Parts: sequence; structure tokens; C-alpha cells
Amino acid sequence: MNVAKNRALLVEELSKNTQCKDIAYKDANLKISWLNQIHSSEVAIIEDNKDIELVQNADAQITRLPNVALAILTADCLPVLISDINGEVVASVHCGWRGLRNNILKNTIEKMQVDTKNLQVWLGPCICPNCYEVGAELRDEFLILSDKFNIAFKESNKDGKFLANLPLIATIQLAQLGVKSIFNSALCTYENKELFYSYRREKITGRICSLIWKMK
Ligand SMILES: [Zn+2]
Repeated sequence: MNVAKNRALLVEELSKNTQCKDIAYKDANLKISWLNQIHSSEVAIIEDNKDIELVQNADAQITRLPNVALAILTADCLPVLISDINGEVVASVHCGWRGLRNNILKNTIEKMQVDTKNLQVWLGPCICPNCYEVGAELRDEFLILSDKFNIAFKESNKDGKFLANLPLIATIQLAQLGVKSIFNSALCTYENKELFYSYRREKITGRICSLIWKMK
């Protein structure tokens, strides 16, 4: 697997995809901002070209700049893309269970500095609640925060194991923050072998790239 080659292919795809025709890479100088994702709750704020070049250690990024695509890489974790209805600011977030537990969504949304009622949130493909088996200790990490998360963990048929629902955890947190508009793609990375990479299925695998950007 060649990361540099795949990233070049992505840029090429963005330039010819008909849905992106109006903002072809070469014409609009669309830049991709990558992160060094570390399962943290750190949020990078992309204010100029220097911030893009830094490739910061973070798991979410925000920008108010047009034509800067915020990339998030996942393979079973939940990618979350956020925009406000006025198109002022956009964000992309890598939500594994650690990030969610450490409030990465709250950190990101606070830094977006807009009324949460105006936010639109997309929950991308991730490992689904039928496939994501976890230990009781992971569930406890969330129940310590709030018993609201109880509904995001169902007992599995294996003793002491639970099935975790990442999109539901994210939805509970977003609702707490006052977000009204949430779209869940409800696509499972583990089950859709033809479409997605899955860490649980393949161990050594590529990553799905989710992007969001502001058009001029
Ligand atoms: Zn599944």
C-alpha cells in the first residue's frame, strides 16, 4: 500500500469527479489539510497555509478558509463532518471510542464558535453496533461520564462483552451540545468489504478519507 500514491490519486479524483466539477482541484487550488491522528481530543485550527504544512498532532480540524479540504482518515472509527448552515466554518473529526470519551466533539464544536443550533453534522461509515464487540471496561469508561450512554451498549452473546454503538454515542453527545441536524450514514465498514477498509477485518489496511471544505 502506497500512501503517497493514494493521496495523489485522491487529488486526481477530486479534480475529475463530476460532483466536484465546479471546484476542480487545479482551477480552485483546493488544498488538502492532513493531520497526524493520535486518538487524542486535540483540535487543530487551520487559519493559513502554514497551518496546513504543519500536519499537526490532532484528531479534529476546523477552518474558515475556502478551498481547504479537511481530511480525516478512518478504518472502523467514526468520521464526523460538521458545517454551519451559513457556510462560515467547517470541521472534520476522527471519533474512535477514546476521542469520544475525551469529548473531542465538544472541543471541536466549542472552537467553531457558532450557534450549535446552526450546525449540520454527518456521521460517516464506521464499524456498526452489530459488529463492534468490546469489553465491559470500555462501556464503563462511558457510564462513568453519564448513564445516558447505557443505550449505546447492548450485551453481546459472549459473556462480559458488549456491542458498542459509536454513532449513537456521538449522537447523544451532539444532542447534549444542542445540535439538531444529524445525518447518520449508517454504513458498516466491517460488513461492506467492497466499499470500505476495516481495521477489525483486515488488521493491516488502508484508510477511508473523509473530506469537507468550504466553496468560495
Ligand atoms: Zn456491521
